[in-house]
Amino acid sequence: MDSTNWQHPRDELVATMDRIYRYHMTTTSGGNLSILDPDGGIWITPSRVDKGSLRAADVVRVFADGSREGLHPPSSEFPFHREIYKRRPDIKAIVHAHPGALVAFSICRTLPETRVQTHAFQVCGKIAYAAYACPGSQELGDKIAEAFATGADCVMLENHGVVIGGRDLAEAFQRFETLEFAAQTVIRASALGTLKTLSAAALHSHAVPDYATLPPVAPLNHEKELRAQLCDFTHRAYRQRLMISTAGSISARLDAAHFVTTPRRRDRLELTVENLVRVTRDACEEGKRASRTSRLHGLIYEANPEIGVVINAQPMCASAFCMTDAEFSSRTIPESYLVLGDTPKVPFACVVADAEALAAKMSLKKCPVLLIENEGALIVGRTLLEAFDRLEVLEATAEALQLSRPLGPLVPMPDSALAELRKAFGME
Ligand SMILES: [Zn+2]
Repeated sequence: MDSTNWQHPRDELVATMDRIYRYHMTTTSGGNLSILDPDGGIWITPSRVDKGSLRAADVVRVFADGSREGLHPPSSEFPFHREIYKRRPDIKAIVHAHPGALVAFSICRTLPETRVQTHAFQVCGKIAYAAYACPGSQELGDKIAEAFATGADCVMLENHGVVIGGRDLAEAFQRFETLEFAAQTVIRASALGTLKTLSAAALHSHAVPDYATLPPVAPLNHEKELRAQLCDFTHRAYRQRLMISTAGSISARLDAAHFVTTPRRRDRLELTVENLVRVTRDACEEGKRASRTSRLHGLIYEANPEIGVVINAQPMCASAFCMTDAEFSSRTIPESYLVLGDTPKVPFACVVADAEALAAKMSLKKCPVLLIENEGALIVGRTLLEAFDRLEVLEATAEALQLSRPLGPLVPMPDSALAELRKAFGME
């Protein structure tokens, strides 16, 4: 359903490197990206050029016969890119970098656990290790290509970093970002307690809501405005690292029977108003795939006329609490308690199969935020700003709780302080 990619490989490489650098997933000297052309040529980022200011003209083209075109030599890691394309004809683009959390796993020579979240497991697939060899050597190329030949799309390099392949650069980038984000989350969770993993049945579930088709209608101005706001908040959630390219959904109520939601499997940063999906109880816009969470969101709107926005998200600090038995407390500062309420945590439930049970727990006053084990946060609000603020406060509170641990035990606000807050701010 995705249309042709009209972006030139040079521009795609620059835009993706810019994104990786901007979101702190590489240093200026580390990392390289490539795209395989149908004629066997390879477009690759150059050697020794600042990754923070890469331009399209800096990209190097290496033809199938080994000749090349460009202002610079190709990345010194060109040999492993070439070997991977030889061994795995299905791979057409490669991302290599040294992001912090994956390097942490690489220098301990352990695998990041992705069985902690369905989406991380499904996006990243099989992960393999390649034994250490000198960067730029044919030996390293052979070892990495052998690891890819086992069917893995993500290959960890001992004492180095990670290499990830995809059918196109967008897919390789999304796997890379998802794996680094999962690794960041797992490291935080490991500091809180023992990691909980999901069952094979949950990990392999691809359940999605089943919808009929809505007849096309000309959108009213109210819907245009709402779609623009929904896009803005989704992009903002991405920039604040509350969502990533492959995870997080937001919906907003349009009227008594309809709401608009983010689509399934679309890069959250590249979302446009046209990509959003109008949904009712049992039907959605023709030719579109509503988020997996849309049935759950629909049930919440039905039962709670005052709720205008629902968010599902997996930000790293809050998700770390969902992967262990560690208690999440909102009794930290007045802002946290006022915005989040008690924030209960419930055992894993599938956002599709268990939508009714999850929806029944949500209410604006009693339970605006729910933590779901091995899934993430479910948040409701009257408006986009209110729900987004809850998501931000949730993640900030989770971060403060984690940062406080080396300093000493948490001193929670006492019941009397909470009662005073509830009274002063009309929460009764
Ligand atoms: Zn490297």
